[in-house]
Amino acid sequence: MGALLQLKNLRKEFGSHLVLDNICLDFSQGSATVVIGASGSGKSTLMRCVNLLEELSDGQIILDGEDISTYGIDLDLVRGKIGSVFQAFNLFPHLTVLENITLAPRLVQKKSKAEAEARAHELLKRFGLEDKADAYPNLLSGGQQQRVAILRAIATGPKILLLDEVTSALDPVLIAEVLSLIAELKADGITMVISTHEMGFAKRIADRVVFLSNGAVLEEGTPREIFDSPKTTELKTFLGALQDAGRL
Ligand code: ADP
Ligand code: MG
Repeated sequence: MGALLQLKNLRKEFGSHLVLDNICLDFSQGSATVVIGASGSGKSTLMRCVNLLEELSDGQIILDGEDISTYGIDLDLVRGKIGSVFQAFNLFPHLTVLENITLAPRLVQKKSKAEAEARAHELLKRFGLEDKADAYPNLLSGGQQQRVAILRAIATGPKILLLDEVTSALDPVLIAEVLSLIAELKADGITMVISTHEMGFAKRIADRVVFLSNGAVLEEGTPREIFDSPKTTELKTFLGALQDAGRL
């Protein structure tokens, strides 16, 4: 069996600026991959390419054996298979927590209201947010909002979850509750691609760490290989800077 997700020679340019340079990566079922790299190295663009928010300049994205990067692909269908959460809280402010979570299952997957709500309540209950079901997002803490955003992203039962710096807008106290939710989903076996500045968390959760520098994958390996035995000057410099900033 091949990888769940394969990126083949992915290339992305913005004008004449090469932002992703021949990315080749396989993601196996149930794995957690943490993508690290300096600001501007291409982490977000990589994730945005995977869920087809950006048009590729070249290359292919194969999800579960299907090329999702061809023209004419059903975007709704693909996005039902790829859950994503980004740094800024992206809940719909005019919808309650329950409505946020049930929106895609109902509109895109055509689930009945009862079925979608039953699943949403199940998720909210499991993660201690049941009492927020009828609240609007602005009444929740940032940590609660991000946890709801993650639950919304998995409500469609995606094959893969993309988490792009989901804790970077949060206070330290709230970060922990979001990270623990992510760790639970990992234990459930959801395949994840995560970009984060929380290096301690990255070490704990990652099966593999990928280091991006100027849009290229310079190193990939286990957390131990990447953090304890960096090979390239670029990674050594990056880790050194994190250490100086007290973040490693
Ligand atoms: P990271 O998430 O690692 O900080 P990004 O993927 O956001 O990096 O950005 C990678 C590079 O692509 C940066 O140089 C950024 O300025 C550039 N970039 C990102 N989005 C766009 C865009 N829509 N138009 C032009 N340049 C962009
Ligand atoms: Mg980014």
